[in-house]
Amino acid sequence: MAKKTIADVDVTGRPVLMRVDFNVPMKDGRIVDDRRIRMAMASISSVVDRGGRLILISHLGRPRGGGVEREFSLRPVCDRLGDLLGRRVAFADDCVGPNVAGVVAGLGDGDVLLLENLRFHKQERDGDADFARQIAGLAQVYCNDAFGTAHRQDASMVAVPLAMAGKPRVTGFLLEKEIEYLSQAIIEPVRPFVAILGGAKVSDKIGAIRNLLGKVDTILIGGAMAYTLMLAAGKAVGNSMVEPDRIDEAGQILSAARQNTAQLVTPIDHVCGQALDSQTRIKIFSGQIEGDWLGLDIGPGTISRYEGVVEAAGTIVWNGPMGAFETPPFDAGTRAVARAMAKATRQNGATSIVGGGDSAAAIEQFDLAGQVTHVSTGGGASLAMLEGKCLASVELLDEV
Ligand code: AMP
Repeated sequence: MAKKTIADVDVTGRPVLMRVDFNVPMKDGRIVDDRRIRMAMASISSVVDRGGRLILISHLGRPRGGGVEREFSLRPVCDRLGDLLGRRVAFADDCVGPNVAGVVAGLGDGDVLLLENLRFHKQERDGDADFARQIAGLAQVYCNDAFGTAHRQDASMVAVPLAMAGKPRVTGFLLEKEIEYLSQAIIEPVRPFVAILGGAKVSDKIGAIRNLLGKVDTILIGGAMAYTLMLAAGKAVGNSMVEPDRIDEAGQILSAARQNTAQLVTPIDHVCGQALDSQTRIKIFSGQIEGDWLGLDIGPGTISRYEGVVEAAGTIVWNGPMGAFETPPFDAGTRAVARAMAKATRQNGATSIVGGGDSAAAIEQFDLAGQVTHVSTGGGASLAMLEGKCLASVELLDEV
């Protein structure tokens, strides 16, 4: 069911509480990449341009939750937001308490206020209802535009909108777009529907494999997670990265795949080194990996097989790199998959969706982000959707 968006609410003259994801990468007190702030601008402008009184809330990093830690302050974000908006953005040095209520009371129509990092209070991560009630009491409208945090049960994501029952509770434009792409792709895919899953750990992707086996036509596996699956199939993997305590579970996945119509495809060859290092000696193994060699990327035979599957797909979702892509030449498999996604999108009009986190970083690194349908801003949240989990923070928002 479609959710109401901020555009559906009359915000003029009303205090609007907007949960955004301003968890930007910082170095020495400076913002390294302001994409997350820019992504929220459409929702922010929608409120400001209509004379709403905007109160922005977010977390930044992982402070301990026992009060202010300067390195996690949102103050630099406030300055950058002011530059982007071309207007003053007020800042409150806490997210609860009498001072905040005073600042909110002084807001005029079209004003913007950013509250300090929610996670300076332990109650945010705990989903505490009293803490949530204090924040909820500041506004008449709740808007969630924080897809990066949508899989979490934090107070600002769940307890705050619960405490605002009866008032409008809507999505922002970024959250709306993320949910639309990811759920549309999974519920009504144009076939063949192909999932590409990679990354370091099979344990992180087991839920996604199980759920997708019932939905997709093919799952292509890459990254170090392939080696735990190979071990479960009784194949040698040399010194490759594995999760020994997950071999049984990996075996269960392989047998679930055998009973399913979807194909679970694992690499047929491997680019191996003797260390995770650009200068290491390289050897390509087909089938098994011998001796003290480490599998660091999918091999050329696997690449051409995966390219064929991806280029013929109608819908592609990708989460996790095919190898140690940060260390060339072990980026080749990940690059090939990204190129094949771009080609399928360009040539067949395929819908191609890149999960956040490392896959998003990889497609940016290869300069291909503009050539796929959607690059998600939330690694954990997009994976939760691939796992078929319902997101409580989204479920409780008003439906159209
Ligand atoms: P994840 O966080 O699970 O998505 O894993 C991403 C990380 O896995 C990236 O930093 C990759 O460099 C790493 N990775 C992927 N494949 C391999 C591999 N074969 N050996 C070592 N690291 C890998």
